[in-house]
Amino acid sequence: MSDLLIRNATLPDGRTGIDILCAGGRIANLAPRIPAAAARTIDAAGLLVSPPFVDAHFHMDSTLTYGMPRVNASGTLLEGIALWGELKPTLTQEAIVERALAYCDWAVGKGLLAIRSHVDTSDARLLAVEALLHVRERVKPYLDLQLVAFPQDGLLRSPGALHNVKRALDMGVDVVGGIPHFERTTADGAESVRVLCEIAADRALRVDMHCDETDDPLSRHVETLAFQAQRLGLVGRVAGSHLTSMHSMDNDYVSKLIPLMKEAGLAAIANPLINITLQGRRDSYPKRRGMTRVPELLAAGVPVAFGHDCVMDPWYPLGSADMLEVASMGLHVAQMTGQDAMRRCFDAVTATPAAILGLDGYGLAPGCRADMVLLEARDPVEAIRLRAARLAVVRGGRVIATSGPSRATLDLPGRPASVDWMPSRAV
Ligand SMILES: [Zn+2]
Repeated sequence: MSDLLIRNATLPDGRTGIDILCAGGRIANLAPRIPAAAARTIDAAGLLVSPPFVDAHFHMDSTLTYGMPRVNASGTLLEGIALWGELKPTLTQEAIVERALAYCDWAVGKGLLAIRSHVDTSDARLLAVEALLHVRERVKPYLDLQLVAFPQDGLLRSPGALHNVKRALDMGVDVVGGIPHFERTTADGAESVRVLCEIAADRALRVDMHCDETDDPLSRHVETLAFQAQRLGLVGRVAGSHLTSMHSMDNDYVSKLIPLMKEAGLAAIANPLINITLQGRRDSYPKRRGMTRVPELLAAGVPVAFGHDCVMDPWYPLGSADMLEVASMGLHVAQMTGQDAMRRCFDAVTATPAAILGLDGYGLAPGCRADMVLLEARDPVEAIRLRAARLAVVRGGRVIATSGPSRATLDLPGRPASVDWMPSRAV
């Protein structure tokens, strides 16, 4: 007998009345009214079943450290980096592991089953690397954790940084990171991109750099990243994270840059919650939003994912592993309120980051891994609007988390006894 049968689901692509049969950790069949039985059956009652949420950009080594040793008073990126520098020497492996595991619990509860986390390699002890490699193995049965070697203090501006990145990769870290805009000069930034992309090419790894996370319109390392990706044959394996300087760039320059990014097969990862919080800090009014040019990149065929980036750490005091909150913020900041645009925002926290991470067997089709989330919403747009409850989270055909539906009772004369969050609608 099969492990799990979900009846009467709506899929993100709009198909309705779909049954999903799971066996041996995979989707065995997906069709209307499957004549089969399973050890467990869930009636989706026409609600949305989506592949799990995927976070393309996170920092698991710093998560849940908010307030340690003090809060970020200015709220800026640079004070956050300084604060993290104060905190790093006091970290212990056990504490990093404990916080990361706690965060992964939150993630599972929210249907977030794959995370790409940057891990700071600038501490010569590589404590965080060891801790997160351990966590990667611990959570493997229920969450895919992909690690990026991230030289937070700069590759060329801090001694030993290049050596530490290579050591981290030798230890099994998956992806090559970088931070070119944080190097001392533009030339050093470009050089760091070249060196790191060559390391990735030599080792057949993917690249994901913090790139141009600044309001400086002349921070143009994404151009170098695209050039190196093309030169080294890394097409489709390189992501630029943040790319906030693109917000402030000259339109003529961007009209040349975006086609280059497309040709180089670059992916873009915006981090809406963090970008809207950290960028534009030196502006008075008007105050820039600072997020990269998401609709324009999408229109040019550049894949764009939305990452959470931070949760309760030196850079961001809020967050709860809810990728629907991330999608909602991205939608608002980019003003993507058209029906198709809103669906693209849902893709930006599901299928698009899954492709950027290169996840194997992701999706809802026979043969895919039986990983999915039953949401209390009828379609992706409603899921974003309601930050829909994750009624059931399934990994490998097994329900690993459940949440109750969102309910509010009313005691009002002449009004219903409870709130209906999903009214009938025209679209
Ligand atoms: Zn980041």
